[in-house]
Amino acid sequence: MNNPPHPPIEQATLVNVNLGERAYDIVIGGGLIERTGELMKPLLQRPRTVVVTDNNVANHYLDNLSTSFDTEGIDHQAIVLDPGEATKDFAHFEELAKLLLDTELERSDIIVALGGGVIGDLVGFVASVFRRGIRFVQLPTTLLAQVDSAVGGKTGINTPHGKNLVGSFHQPSLVVADWCTLDTLPARELLAGYAEVVKYGLLGDAAFFSWLEANGSAVIEGDSEALGAAIARSCKAKALIVAADERESDRRALLNLGHTFAHAIEAEAGYDTTVLHGEAVALGMVLAFSLSARLGLCDELEVERVSSHLTAVGLPATPQALGVEDLEPRRLLERMRQDKKVSGGKPSFVLVRGIGEAFINSNVDPEALTATLEAAWATSAVTRL
Ligand code: ADP
Ligand code: ZN
Repeated sequence: MNNPPHPPIEQATLVNVNLGERAYDIVIGGGLIERTGELMKPLLQRPRTVVVTDNNVANHYLDNLSTSFDTEGIDHQAIVLDPGEATKDFAHFEELAKLLLDTELERSDIIVALGGGVIGDLVGFVASVFRRGIRFVQLPTTLLAQVDSAVGGKTGINTPHGKNLVGSFHQPSLVVADWCTLDTLPARELLAGYAEVVKYGLLGDAAFFSWLEANGSAVIEGDSEALGAAIARSCKAKALIVAADERESDRRALLNLGHTFAHAIEAEAGYDTTVLHGEAVALGMVLAFSLSARLGLCDELEVERVSSHLTAVGLPATPQALGVEDLEPRRLLERMRQDKKVSGGKPSFVLVRGIGEAFINSNVDPEALTATLEAAWATSAVTRL
């Protein structure tokens, strides 16, 4: 696609996350990395910042970001970590905290997180406790981070017990989502992020899902207009939910559509790159729709519509398409019983009455759940129950 290299900043879309004294803007546009200095300057109390990023992202975008700080006279340093999920652990948390102390950042300064969800979650967590809490700015460079993890203030690291089990709520002071950075993102990562875009349509916006059925392939091919529109609509949806329920006491849990299944799948697959989070979410959303249909809540045709769209764009809608051979429904059921969203011993599910009509249910009939998985696996070549 022929995208203009640096559209003017004036064409950027602004989404406000309305959280009172913790309110902040998400700025969405093309070529915004080059304008970050300008966007951040009004927030800085002195012209100094530290950027934390990973090696891959640094190779592509650190120079441009540095130039934007130079242009605005902002003194800056960079800390470059290893890419990958393994970086989101206690060891890197400690290392990063010490490196940041070495830079002599003060409590009134701002840390910049440049990268995907791994960098955003780790830096956000360190920022939440560094000198008892320092502001941070998110510059998400994956689609997943731009539409989901960089927005809403959930931060954290993984432990051997599971993903994101140690963390905090710490809202960023600004999010700058530059869709030009997605040009260099591997296609598989972009597609996995697209699953979270679809999620917003499925959980609360049927018109957006219809729009995705018509425009999803343009989004995935990197068409700037389609991408920009999809990111903006996703961020608006998330911003509204987060503003209504910052700490996930009720409504925010809708964002977990497909995730009870997805977390079990990811845990079984081993958190490497065998299954990406968005791929597990894609199948998880189909399973959530199937379970809802089995419970008589939603029409079977809706399940088919969801799985057709996911399949059309190349996301897994069946266990077979996920390509993990020894994924056993029995073990997934066991994992779901241990999910961190379990309360009072029962896993919580996001169910649907149809596309765009999700709700939370913590009292799902275990037999319906087992039958849903059995049925999905029975039509697949990997039947093991
Ligand atoms: P996620 O946002 O999906 O949680 P990560 O932070 O693990 O993902 O990023 C996924 C991978 O993509 C990492 O290897 C990361 O270094 C790389 N990456 C992130 N953003 C970009 C980009 N814009 N271009 C190229 N590679 C990128
Ligand atoms: Zn997710």
